[in-house]
Parts: sequence; structure tokens; C-alpha cells
Amino acid sequence: MKKILVVGSSNTDLIIQVPEIPRPGETVLGSRFQTFPGGKGANQAVAAARAGGEVIFIAAVGDDPYGSEAVKGYRRDRINCEDIKVCRDTPSGIALISVSEKGENAISVAPGANYKLSPEDMEEAEAAFDEADLMLIQLEITLDTVHRAVEICEELRTRVILNPAPATDLPDGILNRTDIITPNEAEAERLTGIRIRNEKGAWKAAEWLHRKGVRTVIITLGARGAYLSDPATGPGRMIPGFAVNAVDTTAAGDVFNGQLAVALSEGKSLEHAIGLAHAAAALSVQKTGAQSSIPMREETDYFYQANLANQHTK
Ligand code: ADP
Repeated sequence: MKKILVVGSSNTDLIIQVPEIPRPGETVLGSRFQTFPGGKGANQAVAAARAGGEVIFIAAVGDDPYGSEAVKGYRRDRINCEDIKVCRDTPSGIALISVSEKGENAISVAPGANYKLSPEDMEEAEAAFDEADLMLIQLEITLDTVHRAVEICEELRTRVILNPAPATDLPDGILNRTDIITPNEAEAERLTGIRIRNEKGAWKAAEWLHRKGVRTVIITLGARGAYLSDPATGPGRMIPGFAVNAVDTTAAGDVFNGQLAVALSEGKSLEHAIGLAHAAAALSVQKTGAQSSIPMREETDYFYQANLANQHTK
């Protein structure tokens, strides 16, 4: 089995259902309170593990119950947690989320230990970078750490998949060490400054990213699927997604990236890997929650085979 290295955030989402999002100075009485594991790094690590990858997760948590519960969950998904750092002086990453009856939400994030994951931690985990077939990384940790991680991958010839989320600008030194980039529409617009209203916009944004040295560009476009641009394998093209009844699209992109990484490590073509990633994400958007909605590989393979004929472009 090929090894996937995921470097990124681990959070705990603390969610309260409220009648209305409180205004400044206001207190509202909520109803249900729930705690969920989250963070893009963790979601993608779990998605890759359930997709059948042998996953090593490099992250940082605090020395508190949130951190230890989160790590217990990753172990249940058979993720290698040996390189997860436990910070004595910083709490685990927390997202405080209020969800109103109307479905609006207000989110405050304290990155905590996620921002303590350092460039030196990447160097200490070099063996994991060496063993891995590819690295999957996002932007909920500091850019210095992302930069060091992609440098180590370059030295060791480990392929890099960068999911540039949340949206931000990126230095050329990160982009030119990225093999595959997977922004959603908003992230691609933020990175390139190009509006992506249609396929032509996606093409222009992809060209911009290629000029920065990224070999393969995959712009995810929600229910419509994804735009793939890889000059080595043909002109840019839409890879349609699957039509399903979406009830909660939280973490759709994370599921897509985790499954994509595993399929590519198995040697599948870009089209096939994106098709499987669409299938896993389409399964996840039909259920509520983030990690709880991530499918196992058997379900994804079954759904993919059964629905190949219905792959659609909206
Ligand atoms: P993000 O979740 O990062 O904002 P997207 O909205 O582009 O990213 O979704 C990522 C992928 O999830 C899409 O390429 C697609 O495979 C799948 N997806 C998202 N929304 C839907 C939907 N409503 N129906 C089917 N698939 C979806």
C-alpha cells in the first residue's frame, strides 16, 4: 500500500444551535451543544485513510482533552499519529460555531497549536516525507511551515498536492514546488485575481498557475465537478461531478482531496482519480457533518461504478 503524508490542521468544532446569531453584546439561549473533530488537515487525513491509503498525519494539538480525543479518533481510522506534536503551553485548535435556525452560522477560530507546527517539526519528521508517495497539505498552518514542507518534498522527490484553503495569496516559492493544486472557485480567484465565471475563466486561472510552475491544476466547482488542466495530458477540460441531493457540503473539498491523493498514489490517471474523488465527495454531501460523513473506499467504488453513466455537467 502506498503511503500518503498529510500535513495540516487538527481542530475541534464546538457547535451550539441558537435561534438567532447573537449580536455584539447580546446573549442568546441556545439548545443543542455538540463537539465534532474537524480541521482541514484532519478531515483530509481521515478521507485518505477511509479511501484505503496508509496515512501519516503530521499536526500539532494541545495537551488537553480536545487534542487527546482528536488523536484517539485518528487512530481509530488507522492513521499513523507518531509525528503529531503535543504542545504543553498552547491549547488545541478550536472552532466556536453558532448555527441559527435559519441555517446561518458565525464561526470564531482559535488556531492554537496548529500555528505551533513549525518548519523545524517538518525537518524532524523527514523520515515520513521520505517514506511517503505523496504529500497532501493545506493552509490552516503557517506559511513558513508549508514552505519548509514543500522544500523537503522537492529534495526527496515526493509529489506535492496543495489544497490552497482557506483562500489566501501564496509566495512563488510554494507554488513552484507544487505538483498538483486543488483550489475551489473562490480560492482560485483569490490566488490568481481572475474571475472564474465559466470554463474560459477556469482556463485563464489555470494558465496563470502553470506560469507560476504548477504542473497540474484542478479547480473544484461544487456540484458542477472540476476543471482539470495538465498540459502534459491534453488541453484543459471539465470533469463532471455526480448529481445527488446535497444536504450538507461541509468538508466536500476535504473528502475530494483525500480520495484524490489515494487514487493518484495507486497510479490511476488524473481523470479516473478525479472521478473517484467526485464520487467520494458526492457521497459525503448527502450526509450531515464533516468527518462523520466521509465514506469508506468500498462505498465510493460501488457508487462510482453504479453512477458512471450519470456523471453530469450542470
Ligand atoms: P469546497 O468544499 O472546498 O468549497 P467545492 O464546493 O468545489 O469545494 O466541492 C468540492 C467537490 O465536492 C466538487 O468538485 C464535487 O466533487 C463535490 N461536490 C460539492 N458540492 C456538491 C454537490 N452539491 N453535489 C455533488 N457533488 C458536490
